[in-house]
Amino acid sequence: MDFRRELLNVYHSKTARLMAGSLALILFTSQWIVFLSGLYNDYHDKIAQHISVQETKVTEQIHLVDEQFENLPELVFDESLIGLVIISGSDDLLLKAGETLGFSSIREQLVANNYVLNFQWLVQTPGETLTVIAYVDTKPDVIATVVLALQLFVLALFTSLLAAAVVMMGVFRFYVYPMENLIEALRTSREESQGRAPELIELPERADLKPLAQEINNLIDGQRKSERQVKVKQQYLEFAAHHDPLTHLPNRLMFEDALKKTVRASIADDRSFSVFLIDFDNFKFFNDQYGNLIGDKMVIEVSNRLRTQISEVDLIARLDGDEFVVLQQDVSDTESIENIAQRIMKVVSEPYEYRGFTLKTAISVGVSRFPSDVLVSQEDELLGEEIVNNASVALQEAKSQGKAQYQMFTEKMRSNLTNRIRLEEDLKVALQAGQFEVYYQPKINIHTKEATGAEALVRWNHPTHGYVSPEDFVPVAEETGMIIELGEWILRSACYKMRELQQLGYLGLNVAVNISAVQFTDGNLLPMVRKALDDSQLAPHLLELEITESAVMHDPAEVINSLHQLGAHGMKLAIDDFGTGYSSLAYLKKFPVDTLKIDKAFITDISSDGDDVAIVEAVLGLGKHFNMKVVAEGIEDESQLEFLKASGCDIAQGYFVSKPLNSEQYTEWLQRWPYGVQDAAANDPVSSHMEPKTGTNG
Ligand code: C2E
Ligand code: MG
Ligand code: MG
Repeated sequence: MDFRRELLNVYHSKTARLMAGSLALILFTSQWIVFLSGLYNDYHDKIAQHISVQETKVTEQIHLVDEQFENLPELVFDESLIGLVIISGSDDLLLKAGETLGFSSIREQLVANNYVLNFQWLVQTPGETLTVIAYVDTKPDVIATVVLALQLFVLALFTSLLAAAVVMMGVFRFYVYPMENLIEALRTSREESQGRAPELIELPERADLKPLAQEINNLIDGQRKSERQVKVKQQYLEFAAHHDPLTHLPNRLMFEDALKKTVRASIADDRSFSVFLIDFDNFKFFNDQYGNLIGDKMVIEVSNRLRTQISEVDLIARLDGDEFVVLQQDVSDTESIENIAQRIMKVVSEPYEYRGFTLKTAISVGVSRFPSDVLVSQEDELLGEEIVNNASVALQEAKSQGKAQYQMFTEKMRSNLTNRIRLEEDLKVALQAGQFEVYYQPKINIHTKEATGAEALVRWNHPTHGYVSPEDFVPVAEETGMIIELGEWILRSACYKMRELQQLGYLGLNVAVNISAVQFTDGNLLPMVRKALDDSQLAPHLLELEITESAVMHDPAEVINSLHQLGAHGMKLAIDDFGTGYSSLAYLKKFPVDTLKIDKAFITDISSDGDDVAIVEAVLGLGKHFNMKVVAEGIEDESQLEFLKASGCDIAQGYFVSKPLNSEQYTEWLQRWPYGVQDAAANDPVSSHMEPKTGTNG
């Protein structure tokens, strides 16, 4: 850096200018004050010296001349002493020579530009005391003093300016220049940092600003730290958005991203992949049993186990509460898929010891493969969705096949699914559209062959598919909850039909209506049934509610309670499809049930299958023991009827008697039935030979 530029910089620095100017002024003023007082004293010393010399000289000469003063001036006058007056003791003027101006002060003399100064003293001669007044020209002294003053002024000015310059340079060297450096360093580091916290500042040549730089560096450091914190926070948020908080596995969002990428990559590189959808079996039950906290522990445990099993390239994600998914690339052959599915199932189902509990959970797995399970003409996005849907269909299949197993997606499942969806849609409008009809299948007393009543069976006349079996749509109606509304409609139709028959004179007929498990647990069954009976004016004992054995056994304690309530209102209760649902005989004796219906599966093979004979006889024995009526359904020929009659069965139902008939046909059938119709007394609860065995009213 050249000196001129440095000076210029100093000059341009207002701070430096101000500091140096102030310093120079102070220095100069203080010097000048000191110098002035010195000058003043010096001047007076000079004059005093001057006077003293002249005084001595004049006094000596006065003593020498001895009264003769006329030639005294010649002896004493010089450049300095220019006038003399001597006055005797008696005030006589003895001598007046040279320039003898009047007495005046120095100031007056100076003002008048007259440098003559007078002074007087006394001289003792042998005869008297003389007063001597001498006039001295002080001009040389004044000039000497002024010259000195000028010299001192220059000196003061020079030293002040020098000091100011030194200060200015110092300020520049130690303040302005490093400051510029610092600012420059900051600017470059900021420009290079592109908006982030700047780089730390290094000032190797000038240590003077190190503390300041340190301070700034601390600030930068702080900024960086907070920037890092923001980054960490961002990373955390990013992680949280894509991961499940409980298991820290990737979540649905991340899985969907990965799936999209995998689909694209697989199409581009002609590769395959598989999606395994995993779902706990009966996890709700597990949670109810152990509590949600242990349920969560189980989920974490399972996710950890899944993590250990799958090689790192694959993705495991948690989609929902107990739903996981595994994405596996380059695997599409059945054997490898089965291996993976079995491995997953094995590792998950190992018991888990937790706080003294031995926890166990089973899972079902649905697998779908790319590209074999999808229609490749679709867009990438839809392909991902489709493959997951397929896996979900396969998973549902695994569940409905009894759980704790894996199923690979098949085309059949797809068509089942679409049919099922269509069925659901059609079912929604069927009731309003009047597509349902109640059929009645006659029942007869196996001994007298009198008609005893009928079982009401729903029929759906689909506008395009024609007749749809209740075995196909009732489960769907149950799942969608539609069975509540539909079941009520069936029950009311059956009650009104019976009322109509009573008006035709058939007073002793009863009707059996199938009640699904969903209706049974709905909580509204009793009021609904009572209202139907009230509205149709049908006596409660002419209505029999059929509940399947599996529905009864689902929650026996709850069911027993409900059955008691229904029984208390006079309705009859039957267990349908008896023999297929693994009834606990211990419970059976507690059920306030009037009728057991032997499932038709046992009747069909009665003539050829010894086991079925044994089962039928056992059911009949049970019925007798518990004082229940036994109905055999599905009787298709005379031999079956004869066998059941001989074995002591009470009621027969089946194609051999009649197929289910529509309302009109049933009335006609009754009119044509050659063995007559059971009269009211036979079905009257009071006179009936078969009292409800439990006596539930109490
Ligand atoms: P379920 O209650 O055991 O009904 C008896 C079924 O056996 C009826 O089939 C009936 O038509 C059939 N069947 C009667 N006699 C014979 C026979 O001799 N041979 C053969 N092979 N079959 C015979 P459907 O009407 O198809 O009903 C099937 C099942 O659908 C019923 O079994 C019942 O569980 C359910 N279901 C039918 N109607 C209703 C209803 O209104 N409400 C509810 N919740 N379920 C119903
Ligand atoms: Mg039934
Ligand atoms: Mg049945």
